[in-house]
Amino acid sequence: MSVGSAVGREDTSELERVRRDFRAELLESGLLIGTSVAGLYGRSGLFEDIVDGIDRAVSDVGPGKAAARFRFPPVFPRTTFERTDYIASFPDLTGAVHTFTGTNAEHAQLLAARAVGDSWDRWLEPADTMLVSAACHPAYPMFTGVLPGDGALLDVYGYCFRHEPAFDPARMQVFRMREFVQIGTADQAVRHRDLWIEHGLEVLSDLRLEATPVVANDPFFGRVGRMLAANQREENLKTELTVRLYGDLDEGTAVVSCNCHQDHFGGTFGIATADGNVAHSACVGFGMERIALAMLRTHGTDPSRWPSPLKSRMSL
Ligand code: ZN
Repeated sequence: MSVGSAVGREDTSELERVRRDFRAELLESGLLIGTSVAGLYGRSGLFEDIVDGIDRAVSDVGPGKAAARFRFPPVFPRTTFERTDYIASFPDLTGAVHTFTGTNAEHAQLLAARAVGDSWDRWLEPADTMLVSAACHPAYPMFTGVLPGDGALLDVYGYCFRHEPAFDPARMQVFRMREFVQIGTADQAVRHRDLWIEHGLEVLSDLRLEATPVVANDPFFGRVGRMLAANQREENLKTELTVRLYGDLDEGTAVVSCNCHQDHFGGTFGIATADGNVAHSACVGFGMERIALAMLRTHGTDPSRWPSPLKSRMSL
């Protein structure tokens, strides 16, 4: 999701204080369980009940059985990761899995280094897997080839990793995305994205959140990345639905992201439409933890005191 673009206008110290206070409240109430790593949390049963309630609200506006439902593990093949081109645009957010493949002698060296407090990472080798960065990524290889006339509509839900250590509880390193993905013609993809901006607003209003759609860009890395970000905005490829968690202190937190990928994935995964063109795709992602946090911030960190209709809507 995008970074605030008007940092200059933010009161950073006040914003930092409010974010830390909110984080402390979530930890003290036991909704989140802190770890030694910034942005990495356990979740309480109550937090999960909130996430499940949000998931049902999303399902209620979704396409139901018209979408093919897939659930992937949070790690996926390095070969698939390669084809997403993620490393070109977001090297700083990437997570790779490494493991030990050496001999007994090398293991002894590793343990000796560890015993004196030295780093032992150089005895590890890349495994065949990477951490999933976006819930839709593991799905594309299934569609290499020619699509049916109406394309493919998918419902995916899974954990994503992005290396962004932060104190803001809304910027977690590991979080869940529920996504609806359309692969098909350019028209089908754009229609899907536009339809889901409306559906996303419906879900958030159902959860009594005030959301605003804003044209946004991904946090592409480096100098080339700045050009990609400007392009993405100019071509209106990304709309985020944002909720103000911290009042006027920042521009709001993106809780839903609606993206047109043009023919990027169609090209890299060799997916063609029935009429022989490179397929386009679009996905909408609901940031489940961010929506839960927006609810806790808006309605209070004690869900037993939320308005009754909302509690029954969420089955809390
Ligand atoms: Zn996606």
